[in-house]
Amino acid sequence: MAEKITPRAKDYPQWYLDVVQEAGLADNSDVRGCMVIKPTGYALWEKMQRGLDKLFKDTGHVNAYFPLFIPMSYLAKEEEMAEGFAKECAVVTHYRLKADKGVPLHVDPEAKLEEPLIIRPTSETIIWNTYKKWIQSHADLPLLINQWANVVRWEMRTRLFLRTAEFLWQEGHTAHATGKEAEEETHKMVRVYQQFAEEFMAMPVLVGPKSDGQKFPGAIYTLCIEALMQDGKALQAGTSHFLGQNFAKAFDVKFTTADNKKEYAWATSWGVSTRLIGGLIMTHSDDNGLVVPPRLAPLHVVICPLGRTEAERGPSIAAAEKLAAELRAIPRDDFYGYEPISVKIDTMFDKQPGYRYAEYELRGVPVRVEIGPKDIEKAACAVARRDVPGKDGKKFGIPLADAAGYIDTLLRDIQKSLFEKAKKHRESTTRTANSYDEFKQMIEQPGFIYAHWDGTRETEDKIQEETKATIRCIPFDGPTEPGTCMVTGKPSAKRVVFARAY
Ligand code: AMP
Repeated sequence: MAEKITPRAKDYPQWYLDVVQEAGLADNSDVRGCMVIKPTGYALWEKMQRGLDKLFKDTGHVNAYFPLFIPMSYLAKEEEMAEGFAKECAVVTHYRLKADKGVPLHVDPEAKLEEPLIIRPTSETIIWNTYKKWIQSHADLPLLINQWANVVRWEMRTRLFLRTAEFLWQEGHTAHATGKEAEEETHKMVRVYQQFAEEFMAMPVLVGPKSDGQKFPGAIYTLCIEALMQDGKALQAGTSHFLGQNFAKAFDVKFTTADNKKEYAWATSWGVSTRLIGGLIMTHSDDNGLVVPPRLAPLHVVICPLGRTEAERGPSIAAAEKLAAELRAIPRDDFYGYEPISVKIDTMFDKQPGYRYAEYELRGVPVRVEIGPKDIEKAACAVARRDVPGKDGKKFGIPLADAAGYIDTLLRDIQKSLFEKAKKHRESTTRTANSYDEFKQMIEQPGFIYAHWDGTRETEDKIQEETKATIRCIPFDGPTEPGTCMVTGKPSAKRVVFARAY
């Protein structure tokens, strides 16, 4: 199957496109920057949604839905946000077409909207305009709401999943009585994202604030999870914003405090998107195709019964069915999202076994079981793990009687070892630069670089202009010793993390 996929070492961007294509995840659409998410890709998104949604609900949030269209004047009310999103807004100006006979279909000039509507690039404005009606007293707070939706940002340089003009996401929008509580929420949710990235996606992340230059328009500060892809580029994988009272002031959302004073509410917002699918691919997949951590795999196990003749196939199929039933009967726990293990029996007998195996490798099914006539004689099977390609990942002679338990343990092991492998990769490519010259050399090699920076926008911009590297985050768990900025020599409180990024 290697011929279907460009090797990573040869052309990483092409490898990525090949995996997306060959694993059947998504297609480009005729609309620039928009994608069609195919059933296999959507199944992955649904698994992500389920995992995240549970974490949100476990932390007290509820789901709601707000409109796709936002009056332009709402966006205008929060200046920073208006400025930040103006250049990538899709705008609706008319509400009707004309389809007269003999004339090409065209916009009806008479059907001009009095006020243009923008298609939401993010929903703070329409949500805070609504919160004005919902929040009167401290008893109405906190308001802990999430929405699953699509948004549109007219991105210029797009790449399937990682950056698209329309993307699917969730956006949390919470309102609180105190700044302290809103800040706690901002931190809590970035940690929820860290938990999801590390425990479900097996993708290690750095956690910390963005620099001011990289923060969300309208936020006081932005916390993020930042991942490192296999090619050594960084990916902003999720953000959690402390919005202070900016949106409450813009939309006049005041509440009566316990001692009867009027105060503006405090806000947070936080989001992750279908970009996570791109991050998942670029963290784990290999030259044989997609690799999916078991906790997010729509299909956990494929069983391939083998045999040349009907007489040989019969017992293999019977053994496959028995094993499938045993796997499905394994107690549902948190690891499997309280759902049964998902098993498929492959019966493409008209294809060579090698072809069948490669097909499931391409699609990233974590475990493959082979049961042929020789195995049946020994009441055994062969079990291959997707994360270890080739011979090393395949074990022969697993007794059929023990196979279900063996596979259950193996799936958990794959989850762990994918995380460990990704973490090792990150650690082995993370370096520390002590001078700007050293930094400029290092940035030509993949990975994160810890370096001192004076905290100013000018220095950050200069570094980006000269090296294409940006400050990815100021990690909470990074080194803490102070120093001097590698560019200006001015004091630096602690090292920040730089990388080239997607
Ligand atoms: P933001 O609202 O800008 O903080 O973004 C929220 C989340 O959406 C972040 O995790 C981003 O990584 C992700 N995101 C932002 N822009 C895009 C895009 N064009 N395509 C896919 N995901 C995006």
